[in-house]
Amino acid sequence: MLSEKMLMLGKKSSCIREIFEYSKKRKAEIGEDKVFDFSIGNPSTPPPQIVLDTMKKILNEKDAVALHGYTSAAGDLVTRRTIAENINKRFGFEAKPELIYMTCGAAASLTVTLKAIIKEGDEVILLAPFFPEYNVFAANAGAKVKAVLGVGEQFDVNLEGLEKEINKNTRAIIINSPNNPTGAVIGASSLEKLAALLEKKQKEFNSHITIIADEPYRELVYDNVAVPYIPNFYDNTVVCYSYSKSLSLPGERIGYISVSPKMQNAGDMFAAVCGAGRSMGYVCAPSLMQYTAAVCDGVCPDVESYDKRRSRLYSALTEIGYSAVRPDGAFYLFVKALEDDAFKFCERAKKYELLLVPSDDFGVTGYVRIAYCVTEKQIEDSLPAFKMLYDEYMGEKK
Ligand code: PLP
Repeated sequence: MLSEKMLMLGKKSSCIREIFEYSKKRKAEIGEDKVFDFSIGNPSTPPPQIVLDTMKKILNEKDAVALHGYTSAAGDLVTRRTIAENINKRFGFEAKPELIYMTCGAAASLTVTLKAIIKEGDEVILLAPFFPEYNVFAANAGAKVKAVLGVGEQFDVNLEGLEKEINKNTRAIIINSPNNPTGAVIGASSLEKLAALLEKKQKEFNSHITIIADEPYRELVYDNVAVPYIPNFYDNTVVCYSYSKSLSLPGERIGYISVSPKMQNAGDMFAAVCGAGRSMGYVCAPSLMQYTAAVCDGVCPDVESYDKRRSRLYSALTEIGYSAVRPDGAFYLFVKALEDDAFKFCERAKKYELLLVPSDDFGVTGYVRIAYCVTEKQIEDSLPAFKMLYDEYMGEKK
């Protein structure tokens, strides 16, 4: 009677969501401030004031019928023009408004892009560790997923691994930089090598391999680390962007897809994006948010406040004895679990009311993800719990 696949997806929520739900239950039992929930990437800094003011101004001043009516299916043209101009100014690129499609956040950008390009038998490569929902999005498009584990302590792009995994069926590779869960940023030299490898493989198999650049954390970087713009390195690129994290607007569901004009048959690619959006009902993204995005495109998040939390948590945990990937961006810390089984480690952490996410669904074993987009107070209050957890493990080793 029902789609078995959808039933299963609906019944089993993501590991992140499961812990997030547990945290709500636990907080109701013992009090908000007693539970250290590091599960979900929900920004704890409010949207920048200019975003809030712009939303109010638009609501007060724009004609209500126009404001609340449908935009074009692909989005409001003025918004798309503004976004294209901004991309071109910042990255010296040549993005085109007619190749930009407004969406309900990165999740929609990714599902639409995958749906637009995947055919029966196609494969999508993920670089592990990766955002777990990629598996769901790719499966929905009908793709077979292959994961290539990053190399070294920072999980750098594994070119050798990719060389082995790419075959005639490889249709796309999802790149997420700054990365969730490690916070790593892929530098220009790695991108150059990756682009050269993909060009070579395209020639070898006479195929198209698309880079899907998932960039919701593009502006969230520390120590002035540069985030190279991938379409400047590789023509066959589609950028999936979201304002969820950069403007602290995850609940408002707004983002976009930008098809590179350098892509072969870019016009057809965009038409397929429109078709995929249409087939899944992702048309006319929320209009108030489109107009707000146009005015606020380029507004920066409060990087300093995240940086403070990143530095405090990273140095406190490493001082205790944990080892972690030092993040250059996003707001996650990827920490080595103190036993091989990250699920068991997270269960033990719960004893101290520490809610961490095991790394298995991210395609790597033996780590946990800590989302530090929480209050500074939560970080401070949680440190004794991290210390007790560490001491418990070390006590056993003696
Ligand atoms: N991609 C990555 C890497 C993410 O971390 C997230 C959300 O946490 C998403 C996509 C989905 O973002 P959105 O809320 O804009 O749909």
